[in-house]
Amino acid sequence: MIVKPTAETIAEAAQFLHDGKLIGMPTETVYGIAANALNEGAVRATFEAKGRPSQNPLIVHVASLEQAAQVAREFPARAIALADEFWPGPLTMVLHKSASVPLTVTAGLETVAIRMPDHPVALQLIQESRVPVSAPSANRFMSLSPTSAQMIAPEIASRLAMVLDGGSCHVGIESTVLDLTEDSPRILRPGAISKEQIAAVLKVGMNDEPQAERRSPGMYPKHYAPATPVEIVSRLEPEQAGLILDTSNGPNQIEMPLVAGEYARVLYRSLFDMDQMRVKTIYVQSPPQTSEWNAVWDRLQKIVG
Ligand code: AMP
Ligand code: MG
Repeated sequence: MIVKPTAETIAEAAQFLHDGKLIGMPTETVYGIAANALNEGAVRATFEAKGRPSQNPLIVHVASLEQAAQVAREFPARAIALADEFWPGPLTMVLHKSASVPLTVTAGLETVAIRMPDHPVALQLIQESRVPVSAPSANRFMSLSPTSAQMIAPEIASRLAMVLDGGSCHVGIESTVLDLTEDSPRILRPGAISKEQIAAVLKVGMNDEPQAERRSPGMYPKHYAPATPVEIVSRLEPEQAGLILDTSNGPNQIEMPLVAGEYARVLYRSLFDMDQMRVKTIYVQSPPQTSEWNAVWDRLQKIVG
């Protein structure tokens, strides 16, 4: 059931969350399946709803620095500096976990991914639930993440006690995931907060080595894909359906923004719309190869597989 967020519906959802039920939660990145992260049954139900392998850890969402400090074993100075600059916002920090976080949430890891979402409804929901909230994207494993309440697939929605409709997500792709558990910080998944922005705050070198073990589901080669096959091309012919950067010259073509952040905001929605058109292949015109487009390119590569 999709509901408008009001003081009453948020309070009701917070009670559901606290009691171990699942809630569709709007954030600025994508919609999430919110659960009480301290309730193992609720966390297990999240994995079942997604069809997600249990070795893929979930991000824990908090509404305050105090709550973040309770989830992490320690909250180091560099995490505080990054939180000051980017929270609430699309930066997830991986830290050593505290004893309160069940291993179900972290897929057996002694580390935990933490983020404070930049969405008033999410912040109020988490605050009122009085628990840290685990939330993966509200899609089946390997399918497209929803960036509006209406994009949540029926088989996911049917598992949710309530979906709070917080409108369209203004970032539109998943958060940047930053590992702070080693000497040099390392980006595990690119997102709206860039490596350059992080380095400017930390004033240290970053580890650019790709991660050896598969610790991050965001690092699976194929992920976030629509049902229709996607191909990246340098330009679209008039008869080709897809996402175009030039002026559209055919039917079934969606004109995409030329600014990376705005492109990211509408990417999943546009692929979702193309999926509905039931075309054979979605052709995506290749965006620029500059660093501002890193996160968009990461998602496009995972979509193509
Ligand atoms: P999603 O829920 O689909 O947005 O994905 C969660 C992201 O956070 C994935 O890229 C995970 O690998 C990453 N993540 C969550 N917990 C950890 C952790 N303890 N260590 C490393 N990455 C993590
Ligand atoms: Mg996801």
